[in-house]
Amino acid sequence: MNRFFNLYSNCIPVKGSEESIIIDLQNTEHINVPNLLFDVLRKTRTHTIDEIKNFYNNSLDEGIDQYFSYLKDIGYGFFTDHVEMFPELNLEWYSPLKVNSAILEIHEDCKYDFNSAIKELSSLACSSIQIRMSHPDVNNILSGILDATRKSRIRNVEIFLPESLYEEHYLKYLDDIENRINTFVIHSVKDEILTQDLYKNYKYHIDHKLIFKSETINSATTDHIKMENFIINMEFFTEAQQCNVALNRKICIDNEGNFKNFLAHKSIYGNFRNKSITELIEDREFTRKWFVNNDSIEICKDCQFRYICFNNSDIEFNGHSWQKVNECPFDPYTNLWKTE
Ligand code: SF4
Repeated sequence: MNRFFNLYSNCIPVKGSEESIIIDLQNTEHINVPNLLFDVLRKTRTHTIDEIKNFYNNSLDEGIDQYFSYLKDIGYGFFTDHVEMFPELNLEWYSPLKVNSAILEIHEDCKYDFNSAIKELSSLACSSIQIRMSHPDVNNILSGILDATRKSRIRNVEIFLPESLYEEHYLKYLDDIENRINTFVIHSVKDEILTQDLYKNYKYHIDHKLIFKSETINSATTDHIKMENFIINMEFFTEAQQCNVALNRKICIDNEGNFKNFLAHKSIYGNFRNKSITELIEDREFTRKWFVNNDSIEICKDCQFRYICFNNSDIEFNGHSWQKVNECPFDPYTNLWKTE
C-alpha cells in the first residue's frame, strides 16, 4: 500500500463555512466535498494515510479510503510513496499592468471626450474596454472608437447597445480584423426568444460575438452571482488570493466623465475633464478597494467560492471590517442559494 495520498497541484481545496470545494484549475471545474474531507486533505502532504486514519482513531477508515479512491478515479489525486516530489503550485500573482479593463458610458449628452479616454487607456496598456452606449449617433461614435483603438494595445472592445439603436450593418466591423470591436451586446430586446431564433444560424451569434439580452443594461447594472458565472482559471484564482478581481485594475467613467471603481458604485474619484487616468491610478483612495479580496470581506471570507466568484458589488469599511453593499444570493452559513 502506498503511504501518501496527494491531490494534483492544480486541484486546490477551499473551505467554506458549511461545505468545501476542490477547484481543478486545469480542467476549469470544481467539485463539492464535505468539510471533514477538507480537514483530511490538509494533512495529506505531511502525514501518511495510516497516520491520518490513526489521527481520527480509525473511526473514518472506510470513508477516507472511499474518498481517496474516488478522487483518484476522477483524476484529482493519486497515491504515492514520495509526496515530497510533488510540490504545491505557486499561487503568487503579479502583473506589471496598472490598468486591465475599463467601462465607458456614452449617452446622448456625454460630457467627456471618450476618444481621448480610449487613447489614454491604450497608452496604459489596458486590454479590454466595454462601451455602454445609448447615443443615437452610433455610426460616428463607432468610427471614433475604431480610429482610437486601431493599432492600439487594446485587444477587445465590447459594444453594448439598446435594441432601438441597433442596425445590422454595424456587424461589418466584426469582419475587419484590424479593428478591436469584437462583440456587440444588444440589450433591452423586446422579444428575446424570437430574436435569438431569428439569428440562431448567424455566424456572429453562434460565435458569441452578437449577443441579445432582454435585460436593460445601464449604469446601475451589476453582474449576477450564480454558479454559471464563476470563473475558474489560474489567472483569476491567483489574482483572487490578493485582490478584489472584479474591481482590480478597472477604470469606469460614467456619462458625466466621473471616475468610479464600477459604474453602479456611488463613490466618485474625480472627473476625466480635469484629471487624467494616469493621475487617477496614483490615487490611493481610488485603488484601495482593488486590494480588498474576499478573504477580508465579511460573509465572503467564509464562502467556498471566494476565489472563483466575480462580484462587482461596492464594498464598505465600517471601522472594523469590510462588507459588500449588494446582497449575495448564496449564503455560506446555510450552504443554500436563494431562489429568485
Ligand atoms: S459574493 Fe461572496 S458569499 Fe456570494 S458567492 Fe461570492 S464569495 Fe460567496
